[in-house]
Order: sequence, then structure tokens, then C-alpha cells
Amino acid sequence: MIDCIFCKINSGEIPKEFVYEDEDVAVFDDIHPIKSTHLLIVPKKHIKDFYELNDEKLEVKLNKTIKKMIKEKNLEDKGFKVFLNGGGAQIVDHLHIHLTGPWAKGS
Ligand code: AMP
Ligand code: ZN
Repeated sequence: MIDCIFCKINSGEIPKEFVYEDEDVAVFDDIHPIKSTHLLIVPKKHIKDFYELNDEKLEVKLNKTIKKMIKEKNLEDKGFKVFLNGGGAQIVDHLHIHLTGPWAKGS
């Protein structure tokens, strides 16, 4: 069993309120938000990083979830930034995508 904080959140071992959840992904607030919306979109399955994401169905699901959350947080026309850290820049070694906003144009 991998000692992974996001696996523990996904399984409920660490309690966390999910903004959205289905069989493939969980979405919850970043514990250190940089904006009023700062969500983490996290596959349920332990995938170490972006380069280990080799599941096209899951890629589509992650994209759909990002769009769904942008809409739900009313960020469609308020400015959002979507990013993921990898290649050693990441702190948590379980793939996750950051969705942040609102951002002003050019910021
Ligand atoms: P990074 O791996 O560089 O994308 O950074 C990990 C992100 O996860 C940071 O923005 C942290 O604030 C966030 N984070 C770490 N632990 C938790 C947690 N228990 N709940 C929510 N967010 C977390
Ligand atoms: Zn994990």
C-alpha cells in the first residue's frame, strides 16, 4: 500500500469534503488556496504524475471535470488558470490538476 495523502483522501481515510466526486475523479479545495477558487482535480486511481497518465478515457474525464468545475464556479468569463506541476516540481506524487480563479486579463 502506497503512503499517499491523496489516496487517503480519495478512500475517505482522511476526511475531506468533496466539491465533486464520481467513480474516476475527486475534486476538493486546496488546503493553501492562492485564489478564492482553488480546486484540485484528482484521479481516484493512484497515478504518480502526468507522464504516467496513459488512459485516454481518464484524460477525457479529467478534461470534462475541469470544464464542469469552471462552469460550477462561474469562472467561464471571470478568468481561470489550470495547471499541474510535474517533473519533480510537484509536492504530492499523485497526479492532480489545479483550477484557480478568478484572474484578471493578463495577470
Ligand atoms: P503540487 O504537488 O506542487 O501541485 O502541490 C500540492 C498541492 O496540494 C498544494 O497546493 C497543497 O496546498 C495541496 N495539498 C496538500 N495537502 C493537501 C490536503 N490534505 N488537502 C488539500 N490540499 C492539499
Ligand atoms: Zn495516491
